[in-house]
Amino acid sequence: MWNFSAGPAQLPKTVLEQVHARLFNFQGCGCSILEMGHRTDEIRAVFATLEENLRTLLQIPRHFDLMFMQGGGRMQFAMVPMNFLQETGCAIYCVDGTWSKGAQERALRYGQIQTCSMGADPFARATAEHAYAYYCDNETIHGKRFACTPRKHGARGLVTDMSSNFLSRPIDWEEMGLVWAAAQKNFAPAGLTVGIVRRDWLNMAYSYTPTMMNYASYAYGHSMPNTPPVFQVYVAKLVTDWLLAEGGVERMDRRAKARSQLLYDVLDQYPDLYVHEVPRAFRSRMNVVFHLPNEELTQEFLSVARQNDLYYLEGHRSVGGIRASMYNAMPIEGARRLAFVMKEFAKKV
Ligand SMILES: *Cc1c(COP(=O)(O)O)cnc(C)c1O
Repeated sequence: MWNFSAGPAQLPKTVLEQVHARLFNFQGCGCSILEMGHRTDEIRAVFATLEENLRTLLQIPRHFDLMFMQGGGRMQFAMVPMNFLQETGCAIYCVDGTWSKGAQERALRYGQIQTCSMGADPFARATAEHAYAYYCDNETIHGKRFACTPRKHGARGLVTDMSSNFLSRPIDWEEMGLVWAAAQKNFAPAGLTVGIVRRDWLNMAYSYTPTMMNYASYAYGHSMPNTPPVFQVYVAKLVTDWLLAEGGVERMDRRAKARSQLLYDVLDQYPDLYVHEVPRAFRSRMNVVFHLPNEELTQEFLSVARQNDLYYLEGHRSVGGIRASMYNAMPIEGARRLAFVMKEFAKKV
């Protein structure tokens, strides 16, 4: 079965096998990791290894702190302005899809928000009055991504949502203030959100910010201001072990390019059947989004796909159509098979 779910999404098979094999007796402790206290040496070591692995994979500079949080993407939509907006009361958001729009709408409650849109230089208007410049690196629902990191111009720094392409491309830390990612797309099971923040961006939160929504609580408290999501962190650690063994983030980037290119070639070959609206420069390597001319053909396509072992290709409920999500764990064979089935379908109808 090939799993094209947008999230929660496919995890590497070897990781699931490791979880399975070790579930009842964690490192000889005699009990399951699901039953262990989070302040034991064993669990602290899991957190420390995950942090070290991420630092290696993404070449995170030492003046950035890692934070393992809960609450998912929507909690970050509120945490970002609560923590960073106070200094100038104003920020600029690049709005290009559901997730950047959601973040911008939430931020409006905390200060003055200006907007811009995806393009060659989205933050060209940013000045020192902008506490940060916000964008979503990969819009999961619309299948759009930034080809390269935008410039922050006058803004203090960038804040980026990398939920659906975290660990699939290197990060340019030069302009970053915060990178965050909800884990359930390209990283780990739902229930974990990773944040990587410049240390000098901590301690600027509005005074009404709850402890659990203050980045400093995580950065200074080893991500344990309360009981953390131990199991999710453990699976994330196994995923980063796997990524290191597989050759790292650049390798993932090349694989993602190869997988998505297989599908984009078919879209370009049959543009009347597979309608694709994202400009070439912004094509996502994670989520290939298109639609067929009518609902009947869409359903027929999905049914043919299922007969060929290709599952969860339905587009997001807000846009319909088809979405093929191919994250780090998707082998190239899955993309090949889908491309083949799409071509065969196009020849028949
Ligand atoms: C899924 C997603 C979110 C929302 O995540 P939740 O944890 O469900 O709130 C935010 N941003 C991006 C890019 C996403 O793909």
